[in-house]
Amino acid sequence: MTTPSVVGIDLGTTFSLAAFVENGRPVVVRDARGTALVPSCISFHDDGTVLVGSEAKARALTDPEHTIFSVKRLMGRTLADLRKELDLIPHQIVERETADGRKVLRVVIAGHEYTPEELSALILKEVRRRAGNPTKAVITVPAYFDDTQRQATRDAGRIAGLDVLRIVNEPTAAALAYGLDTRGSGTVAVYDLGGGTFDCSILALSDGVFKVLATNGDTYLGGDDFDRLLMQAAAKDMGVDLSAKDAELLQHLRDAAERTKIALSANDSAELTVDIAARGIAYARTFTRTEFEALIRPLIDRSLERCKAALRDAGLTVAKVDEVVLVGGSTRIPYVRRRVGEFFNTTPHTGLNPDEVVALGAAVQADILTSGRRDMLLLDVVPLSLGVETLGGVVDKLVHRNSTVPARGMTRYTTAADNQTAIILNIYQGERELTKDCRFLGTFKLSSIPPMPAQFAQVDVTFLVDHDGILTVSAKELRSGAQAQVTVQPAHGLSSSEVDQLVNDSIEHAHADFTARRLIELRNKATGDLRATDKGLAQAGDQLDAAQRDAIALSAAALTAASAGTDVTALQAAISAHAATTNPLATLIMNEVVRQRLSGSDAEKLDAGKL
Ligand code: ADP
Ligand code: MG
Repeated sequence: MTTPSVVGIDLGTTFSLAAFVENGRPVVVRDARGTALVPSCISFHDDGTVLVGSEAKARALTDPEHTIFSVKRLMGRTLADLRKELDLIPHQIVERETADGRKVLRVVIAGHEYTPEELSALILKEVRRRAGNPTKAVITVPAYFDDTQRQATRDAGRIAGLDVLRIVNEPTAAALAYGLDTRGSGTVAVYDLGGGTFDCSILALSDGVFKVLATNGDTYLGGDDFDRLLMQAAAKDMGVDLSAKDAELLQHLRDAAERTKIALSANDSAELTVDIAARGIAYARTFTRTEFEALIRPLIDRSLERCKAALRDAGLTVAKVDEVVLVGGSTRIPYVRRRVGEFFNTTPHTGLNPDEVVALGAAVQADILTSGRRDMLLLDVVPLSLGVETLGGVVDKLVHRNSTVPARGMTRYTTAADNQTAIILNIYQGERELTKDCRFLGTFKLSSIPPMPAQFAQVDVTFLVDHDGILTVSAKELRSGAQAQVTVQPAHGLSSSEVDQLVNDSIEHAHADFTARRLIELRNKATGDLRATDKGLAQAGDQLDAAQRDAIALSAAALTAASAGTDVTALQAAISAHAATTNPLATLIMNEVVRQRLSGSDAEKLDAGKL
């Protein structure tokens, strides 16, 4: 294999992979065994090593606490966005606020905290390594990804050491992989059914130029659901309760169900077997393809409803669709192919591997951008409307959903008060009317407006969404010429300096950093605990006996010593030990506090009685 300098990367929820153009044709990067798909799964080991891919996936069963998957669902999100995801991800997810008020999401894995960008960067690094460490890439995202999610993906690329040439929509990449751009003009529907998500996009092609007309989908519909249906059927047979959280049994069942599902794509029937000898479990049952089709039918119906909605958004009927492209591993299922073909009344394209086509298309796009050989433009749409908050918390939309990028929108504002010298704009993304129902992206300020009577200043505000779907806001006061411009830094997510820092830190450093931070946190805790002990001892007077005081003095000395060292584990242990010896003291102090509170409120009651 030649080593490419630029690759296209499909950063998927369940699988990721890279492709590049070789001798004018896109090819996927395969390992020695011929495998292209890298499970989007990461596992952390206590010695600091990090595994990514199938080795990490294999550990999910034995060591779920150190293993993470589905990171894509967390990209560019806030805790408030994640209600459903929180059930799927067995790790604690916290939101930290930075000094400048941005919210940064962090996943807690075995005591360490990681941002989704860092985790995705680990996957990208592995994909990059397999391709021979190229420095440039095009990375794909779902068409519905909003500004923040795209920024987060771009940041992940940078952390992984990649110059991200462009963020491209997955359906656009798929159409490109099939070379549909050479067909001149027409309408293309892209049906993407992956591991956990479903997307349908309608693309218009004219003069070899693509434009995404509309997208729709369901972020909780995919192959995992088919596995679950088979698992449920098997569990019912076996008389086991799936909600019992029997991790070992669940994982065995899940693996077996997925194997059976995949076998049913090639055969009319397949056996589902679960053997856990140690627990005396030996189960086998044959599923026919017909049975499986009946199970998944409601889900496929649901996906086709979404296709209808996408067509409606695009203002088209099924008859207008010329070509259908199948994307995602789950479209290998013959029933899915049949139903999609029937729905669109045409035979879908299936010539390329559905789980590789997005990466192949990204490679084509990367090649176009770097070689300049082909004169082609790829147009995409803005997934969600963008606007500014006006009086009463209403969103004034400047760029509408599904407009083609680059998209521009403009509006004129004036000052509300006399001598107002600054105007502050709150920027929102979403389809709803009120800011409270939309996503807050950031604040933008135009200052240095010369003092003028109210309503006198005229401020033109322009929104520009570039090819990556990233928003730049600029404002200009017409009388004075005062102007300002920002690329919207989302109110959550990483700042560019944080990204820069992460770019420079390899994961080895990241581990050292975490240890250093942990040490600082623990030392702070130790100092606080020791101070509280001193205060408590003074307060407790002779209420503690000599043995208790000796024990506390001993553990305090040990804690002081540990705090001066650099052994995190030892310090943690010293903190715990000290907490144990000071327990009687803490109880004493607590009782005292409660007693004072009670008498305090009694005093208030007396005061109230006097009034
Ligand atoms: P992503 O969601 O990350 O884009 P993929 O497009 O690779 O992932 O889809 C992964 C899903 O495809 C998994 O649920 C997997 O079980 C399923 N899959 C892969 N091969 C087959 C097959 N031959 N038959 C049915 N499902 C398959
Ligand atoms: Mg995919």
